[in-house]
Amino acid sequence: MFWMIVIAIVSMSLLSLLSGIGLGIAAKRFHVEEDPLVDRLTNALPATNCGNCGFAGCHAYAQAMSSGNAEINLCMPGGVRTMEELAVLLGVEPKPIGNDPGPRVAFINEALCIGCTACVKACPVDAIVGANKQAHTVIADECTNCDACIKPCPVNCIEMVPVAATVYEWKWQKPAGPVAALPTAA
Ligand code: SF4
Ligand code: SF4
Ligand code: SF4
Repeated sequence: MFWMIVIAIVSMSLLSLLSGIGLGIAAKRFHVEEDPLVDRLTNALPATNCGNCGFAGCHAYAQAMSSGNAEINLCMPGGVRTMEELAVLLGVEPKPIGNDPGPRVAFINEALCIGCTACVKACPVDAIVGANKQAHTVIADECTNCDACIKPCPVNCIEMVPVAATVYEWKWQKPAGPVAALPTAA
């Protein structure tokens, strides 16, 4: 009996060792080098993976941009700051973000919330908390402005509300009309 246990332990250890070596060799042999630009573009994106840009996630969007198959202005959660960073990385001109709503966070009207949890499942960054059949709420600091929770709510009690721009988003407003010429020295 003792030797049977020893043999079983030794064979399991050998099997694990051989599997580890096999996996290590396979990982080295079949390793595909990723374009470093894709890594840099991915790192510039919010990592929310909300799919708002029309791609399966941030990495897929980065791959599409690096191969010239996607514009730089599709990531609404990232906003203008991300778009400008992508423009620098790709060496292209910045592009306006269509219908850019500016910085916002989701807000749940808790009086209307029925606690169905649909929004919790839809939120890619776990910014919504709440239990089944209880009012839910948004952790504003975690919300990435992605809109993904709006449609799934069956009672339309979630809205996106603007937040004050931080120093990262704030910009001088463009002048409404032609700028008056400065007086010249006499
Ligand atoms: S919209 Fe932005 S955050 Fe959402 S998946 Fe696309 S790149 Fe990622
Ligand atoms: S709370 Fe809504 S808008 Fe905010 S990150 Fe989650 S899904 Fe997106
Ligand atoms: S989807 Fe709407 S009703 Fe359901 S838990 Fe979220 S906020 Fe409440």
